[in-house]
Amino acid sequence: MELKFINQPPSIINRFVAELRDINVQTDSMRFRRNMERIGEVFAYEISKSLSYKQKEVRTPLGFSNEWMPNDKIVLASILRAGIPFHNGLLNYFDDAENAFVSAYRKYTEEGEFEIRVEYISSPDLTDKILILADPMLATGSSMELSYNALLTNGKPKHIHIVSIIAGQAGVEYIEDKLKYEPVTLWLAALDEELNAKSYIVPGLGDAGDLAYGAKL
Ligand code: URA
Repeated sequence: MELKFINQPPSIINRFVAELRDINVQTDSMRFRRNMERIGEVFAYEISKSLSYKQKEVRTPLGFSNEWMPNDKIVLASILRAGIPFHNGLLNYFDDAENAFVSAYRKYTEEGEFEIRVEYISSPDLTDKILILADPMLATGSSMELSYNALLTNGKPKHIHIVSIIAGQAGVEYIEDKLKYEPVTLWLAALDEELNAKSYIVPGLGDAGDLAYGAKL
């Protein structure tokens, strides 16, 4: 497994991440969703540099030009619901991508403990394709691992890009351990030190799904 950061050297993506985190900017949920989407677009551009390409002759009004065209079959997969705006950003750049969705959620006990449940999955065949698995927040890593395992029952991809905006150190270590022999690249825009008692990333940004779509029961 390989780990890649897109926040160094600093670029415009650092501003998008800062706005996602900023409690004063978070009051504007449309801006929150749009920043997630913009970050998805930047990740898509960075990931596109690792894909395979083939040449195609393009006819212009004045002649012909040989151009490099993407050659991989891409499946974009997201973990509901916080992943939706992030997914849209990735899809803005990968025009022909197929799409997969996983619902993974924290089922809390009365004592405040939780386990991750994966209840719904829709996916095309993944065999020999490039799977891009997006979840904006990588906290403990367990919903990512369960979603990864659930998706891979639909075929073995050529390569898997796991994409998160903010990760906690514990989640990165967990994924590095569980997927160390897998053909995986983990892409991050920020790495935070801690998780709090409720397994939220600190400083993080709070609950990404609530900030994008409103509080849930
Ligand atoms: N999901 C979130 O939305 N935020 C976190 O900090 C962790 C998981």
